[in-house]
Amino acid sequence: MAKKLARKKSTARPAARAKAPVKYVYFFGRKTDGNGTMKPLLGGKGANLAEMCRIGLPVPAGFTITTEVCTYYYANKRSYPPTLRGEMEAGIKALEKQSGKTFGDLTNPLLVSVRSGARDSMPGMMDTILNLGLNDQTVEALATKTGNARFAWDCYRRFVQMYCDVVLGVQKRADEDHDPFETVIHRLKHDRYHQDIDDTRLTVDDLKELVVRFKALVKERVGKQFPVSPWDQLLGAVGAVFGSWMNDRAIVYRRKYNIPTEWGTAVNVQAMVYGNTGDNSGSGVAFTRNPANGVKEFYGEFLINAQGEDVVAGVRTPEPVAELKKQMPKAYGELERIRQTLEKHFKDVQDFEFTIEDGVVYMLQTRNGKRTAMAALKFAIDMQKEKLIDWKTAILRNPADQLEQLLAPVFDLAEVAKAKVIATGLPAGPGAASGQIYLNADRAVVAADKGEKVLLVRVETSPEDLRGMIAAEGILTARGGVSSHAALVARQMGKVCVCGAAAVEVDYQARTVSVDGQTFKEGDWMSIDGTIGQVYAGQVKTAPSEIVAGLIDGDEKAKKTEKFRNFQQLMKWCSDATRMVVRTNADTPEQTANAMAFGAVGIGLTRTEHMFFEGDRIDAMREMILAETLEERKAALAKLLPYQRDDFAGIFRALKGYPATIRFLDPPLHEFLPHTKEQQEELAKKIGVAAARIHQRVEGLHEFNPMLGFRGCRLGIGYPEISAMQARAVFEAAAIVQKEGIKVRPEIMIPLVGFKKELDLQIEVVHQAAREVQAEQKVKLNYMVGTMIEIPRGALTADEIAQSAEFFSFGTNDLTQTGLGMSRDDSGSFLPQYQELEIVKKNPFATIDASGVGQLVEIAVTKGRATRPNLKLGICGEHGGDPASIQFFEKVGLDYVSCSPYRVPVARLAAAQAALQAKTK
Ligand code: ADP
Ligand code: MG
Ligand code: MG
Repeated sequence: MAKKLARKKSTARPAARAKAPVKYVYFFGRKTDGNGTMKPLLGGKGANLAEMCRIGLPVPAGFTITTEVCTYYYANKRSYPPTLRGEMEAGIKALEKQSGKTFGDLTNPLLVSVRSGARDSMPGMMDTILNLGLNDQTVEALATKTGNARFAWDCYRRFVQMYCDVVLGVQKRADEDHDPFETVIHRLKHDRYHQDIDDTRLTVDDLKELVVRFKALVKERVGKQFPVSPWDQLLGAVGAVFGSWMNDRAIVYRRKYNIPTEWGTAVNVQAMVYGNTGDNSGSGVAFTRNPANGVKEFYGEFLINAQGEDVVAGVRTPEPVAELKKQMPKAYGELERIRQTLEKHFKDVQDFEFTIEDGVVYMLQTRNGKRTAMAALKFAIDMQKEKLIDWKTAILRNPADQLEQLLAPVFDLAEVAKAKVIATGLPAGPGAASGQIYLNADRAVVAADKGEKVLLVRVETSPEDLRGMIAAEGILTARGGVSSHAALVARQMGKVCVCGAAAVEVDYQARTVSVDGQTFKEGDWMSIDGTIGQVYAGQVKTAPSEIVAGLIDGDEKAKKTEKFRNFQQLMKWCSDATRMVVRTNADTPEQTANAMAFGAVGIGLTRTEHMFFEGDRIDAMREMILAETLEERKAALAKLLPYQRDDFAGIFRALKGYPATIRFLDPPLHEFLPHTKEQQEELAKKIGVAAARIHQRVEGLHEFNPMLGFRGCRLGIGYPEISAMQARAVFEAAAIVQKEGIKVRPEIMIPLVGFKKELDLQIEVVHQAAREVQAEQKVKLNYMVGTMIEIPRGALTADEIAQSAEFFSFGTNDLTQTGLGMSRDDSGSFLPQYQELEIVKKNPFATIDASGVGQLVEIAVTKGRATRPNLKLGICGEHGGDPASIQFFEKVGLDYVSCSPYRVPVARLAAAQAALQAKTK
């Protein structure tokens, strides 16, 4: 019965949909069509404007044109759905009705803003256009209606400036350091006042002149006329928003943050409210808590008598929002109330934008605030205590790929005491950075590519600087507040940043920075502390973060810090939530101990290569390779055995009973031999072998494609005595450490297996060594033998291989190389273009190619477990420390991931999050 009903419903639906035309415009205001859950359709801004209307916050009315229009636009040669125009007209009508104003009217004109809004806010997108609807006639109407000509012309000046920039494309040229409109403003101020004056002091006449000069500039630069009709203006602006979805900046940003192109952007058209009517008005940006360090305080800034663009653009340095308490106490009280309402409703820290018009507060945007890792941690812990969220949500609130920021160094206290503070600014991105200064993004990128540590210093940053900001260790700006572009991006990327350090004078022409009587050239060193906002001359040494100091160095003072305690709380929750555990890739006792301090529960991969390289061992190794008989080879191997035994014993002790997966020799033998003639001759003398013999052996071992050559288990099959020596070293070490009273759990891993027989041959060698050592030492050892699944044949025949293997560890580096037929080391010549063209969405060597290589993993998991239900499964490739890949490994049901020691906290967090998300699905 139920089934029947359901079927009936599902057939009825498409028919209904075919009849009703798609709705492209959603209204918000007195009547609100959308809500906060509709971000894919309405964009983040549009959905939250609707949500704020629904919870009774004061939002100027407007409408949202959906992201589906953007998709349509690109699918249909940049044209619009035929029904859109009608819906927009209805939208404007509704706005007119609600405001009592009329679009393009000559007595009481309605003005609107046009705002882009993707699902997630995207700094690369089109800038907002304010005061749309003004022209030479309506500006006079606005002046008369408000009795405030200065205000009306200020609006018009802003509108022309923004429209010409954003829609007509008059922008800073590559050879210019300043925005051309700002240059025009600067020139007018100097023509008329012979000095820089504040924008608020420009008179009606100055503003009229600016409008004339702006229009002339546009004519000269792009030969276009400024559109007079409000509807032409509106359609032009909407088109520009959709057009900006495919501009370079937006594309760069999407690539960095892996935002799919298909998502598209929405457009919001909203009735204007005015922050520039006088000193009882203003605009601001605020956070419900401090997004840099996480402190629960009302945090933000505002500008009196200004429209919102000024705050974000960093043109004037705004005042802290606390100042409003004195200047507009009523509005401040209202904002405090809104702050509380927002957190109670959204249950997360909000980043919101507001405008005060003649003392009345209006909300223009809210979203979950971008935060540094330090703030994310504190927010999560505090909000759980306040019972706003539960502990599971608290785990999910910490972005896993940002967590490493907490482990980043801080300035060494002793060093920083000696350093000279030359300026202070706003602490916008915590951490310590020391670097050589560069004043422009391109030069910063070039320097960073050369391996320099770069500090990007600018008057202010804009989206064009993004590449330079990515390349830099830290960012220092002379102007702009905590919501300036620089601060915003730094917070998001986890860059160290100090902004608005007013004492810093940047001279772009001379490429120098003067501060505190000192002049720095490009390439000179400066240092910044983004946690407290200080700028230092020269290079300042750094010290480990409190978390590293507490966990690894056992520093008691560090353990008492709030940061340390919060971190430990989070890790404890992660242990409670996780299903997969985290192991580490470590080759030495020290690395092992570090990883365990971070919470690793064993080793997922010990590479034994380095055990053949260090000090004199390499000579014995080379003797072994050059040996002509089995006896000679065994003699050389006997010299290596004690070294390996000691290495393994050290690792077993550091593990304190946790398991260690030990991979047998993997790289091709020629990697151990010298390749130049001089080196070969030197070796010949040292070990008493003819140089010609060495040369001949090197030639003999030469491979056209070493990645697919004589390596992995192929070595152990060619030379079983190598595996025998390694197995003996493992078991002798195990016996020694076990006798010391420490539990030892070696898991011997045979690499590069594609055929069951390969594994069987090696397993026999291992068991033989185990039998011998156990008999000699009179001990019983607890060990396993398994394999690395890292070539497709191994994955595809996992059912057969699991008959012999007691565990699988996925070697996803090689599995990716062999699965994609791409060498990681050679992919640099084409992979960047592949990412640009979105042939691959992400670098497959960083994030597992889930739909391709991932299938090989899934097949191996299914087939392996079918043969051996308790087969232990792990992953030891680079992907083991990558949050997105960890999600995938949770999904396919691995038992553990393994990663480098400093990635362990990231992996623990990602694994816990993956487990929680799997449960909610
Ligand atoms: P962004 O996505 O870059 O933050 P917004 O669309 O939020 O751009 O617009 C930036 C600023 O423009 C807002 O913070 C607000 O101050 C101002 N603004 C936008 N729409 C309006 C409006 N309808 N009335 C007044 N100011 C507005
Ligand atoms: Mg905004
Ligand atoms: Mg491998």
